[in-house]
Amino acid sequence: MKKESLCLHAGYRPSNGAPRVLPIVQSTTFKYATTAEVARLFDLAEAGFFYTRLGNPTVDAVEKKIAALEGGVGALCTSSGQAASMLAVLNVAGCGDHIVSAASIYGGTFNLFAVTLKKLGIDVTFVDQQAPDVELEKVFRPNTRAVFGETLSNPSMDVLDIERFAALAHRRNVPLIVDNTFATPFLCRPFAFGADIVVHSTTKYMDGHALQMGGVIVDSGNFDWSAGNYPELTEPDASYHGLVYTQAFGKAAYIAKARAQLMRDMGCCQSPQGAFYINQGLETLAVRMERHCRNAEAVAAWLMQHPAVESVNYPRLPNHPQKTLVDKYLPNGTSGVISFSLKGGREAGARFIDALKMISLQVHVADIRTCVLHPASSTHRQLTDAQLQEAGITPGMVRLSVGLEHVDDILADLEQALT
Ligand code: PLP
Repeated sequence: MKKESLCLHAGYRPSNGAPRVLPIVQSTTFKYATTAEVARLFDLAEAGFFYTRLGNPTVDAVEKKIAALEGGVGALCTSSGQAASMLAVLNVAGCGDHIVSAASIYGGTFNLFAVTLKKLGIDVTFVDQQAPDVELEKVFRPNTRAVFGETLSNPSMDVLDIERFAALAHRRNVPLIVDNTFATPFLCRPFAFGADIVVHSTTKYMDGHALQMGGVIVDSGNFDWSAGNYPELTEPDASYHGLVYTQAFGKAAYIAKARAQLMRDMGCCQSPQGAFYINQGLETLAVRMERHCRNAEAVAAWLMQHPAVESVNYPRLPNHPQKTLVDKYLPNGTSGVISFSLKGGREAGARFIDALKMISLQVHVADIRTCVLHPASSTHRQLTDAQLQEAGITPGMVRLSVGLEHVDDILADLEQALT
């Protein structure tokens, strides 16, 4: 099926007489007749649900839908996007290991890497994703375990050269993890360009209605763990009766370990009700993304010619410096997110936001309703000026998330606020 149809049909095909709509299986636990059956489930010798932290039919359907949309072998839903990024990295790196990450990433992920992972003994080197290969090669170490980047970075909207980053990572036998939140699989499928693992904040376009937190990790199944240095995947897991994930799960080793080991221990699972909401959003993802993109293209072009605007960063603009990357990775659009700076910097940005009427100030992005945010004073507030610059954020930058209203109404509100 094409992506539009997968949005509606993947993950749940009702049998004769079953509910047409994905049912919410609101139960923490599942009943079995014999201890032998439960033991087989605990040994992972058989697939089945036994406790909702590790698996639930509603959550499972959403995981299968997202895996199908991304073209992966399996997925694991988490309680938030932050939890997905955390588990994605912890699944391959521990104390004494090293990660290479693009500097241009969401502020929360930056903090997770720079502060919390560091406390756990994982060192992260942030790189300029525009730097040439010779520069990037130098940051790799013998203990590097993963490379991380965002397809479209939040909020600077830099486009990651996925194929180049995958090649860099693979030369060192490490996987490339891509946060595909802004692009969604509808606009870009990173696995087609060599990415190994994809993460999402499903809180964003996948839900799309600003009503449910969530995250997901998707495994391409393509990375050869035995070629790299990943004993946790290729040698017996003492916490799981000596199970060897690559032997027991083959191509799905990574995602099986994330669930069996990390979700078991850390417990940041999605709820059945939450998964139901995300599924509801996913059903209309294709049509929403089309409209978000078309509206944002019109708004970006309009902002470009406005005398109060100093600069507009929207990769779909015709003269954008990353046009070649956009044509390659995002030929159908670059989402609804635009970042722009006003003449007059930080103060002008704040006055403009306060003057908006229909468009709302929200610590959110990718909502069906158009919303704005000032990253330097909110999502990226913990970053120093130097880190802000590295992440491609100016003090006066406004992040505009273009929604699904009629574009004339969006432009009218922007115009009166700019005036
Ligand atoms: N990744 C990106 C690109 C994001 O924009 C966000 C949140 O804004 C996250 C990850 C974290 O997701 P969540 O807020 O669902 O924890």
